[in-house]
Amino acid sequence: MNIIIFGPPGAVKGTQSEFIEKKYNLFKLSTGDLLREEINKKTTLGEKITSIVKSGSLVSDEIINSLIESIVSNKKYNKKIIFDGYPRNLPQAKNLNELLLKYNQKIDIVIRLKVSLDVIKKRITGRLVCSECGKIYNEFFNPPLKNEMCCKKEFLKKREDDNVDVAIKRFKTYEDSTE
Ligand code: AMP
Repeated sequence: MNIIIFGPPGAVKGTQSEFIEKKYNLFKLSTGDLLREEINKKTTLGEKITSIVKSGSLVSDEIINSLIESIVSNKKYNKKIIFDGYPRNLPQAKNLNELLLKYNQKIDIVIRLKVSLDVIKKRITGRLVCSECGKIYNEFFNPPLKNEMCCKKEFLKKREDDNVDVAIKRFKTYEDSTE
């Protein structure tokens, strides 16, 4: 089963896809996570895309499509992918169609999450990610518990693109290019 989870930034696509990934033994393919990994590792690609991701704009389709192909073509993930944050515009959607045909796969389910801009602002500005295990919290909706085993205060970080101005820009990008 392949799934696309779709919705504006801050719609909790990442958290929901983690539940689905575990429950149905799928592989979560988050383009945002892949890009952040490149940025954190300071690879050549990471340095190229840092300012784009920070500003809330979209990274070029060529970069994204090649990241996607390396995973869709891998037999280990055959018919087991949950796409989180991809496709994000029409050329990416067309590319995904071509890749699915090429590797004899299809999308079985599309889940669309709908959230208002007011809630999105709180979700984005309140988001905290554990730098050790990747678990996602929210200061307003899902604060970390005091006695967490892993996610201690010093490990909880804000994403660089999680501020109100960039949130509004990312929401606008979603409305213009993705929706
Ligand atoms: P996300 O973690 O999905 O919110 O993505 C964070 C940022 O990574 C976005 O604001 C974009 O700058 C970039 N990004 C993630 N996925 C894509 C994509 N499919 N196409 C272009 N840029 C992307």
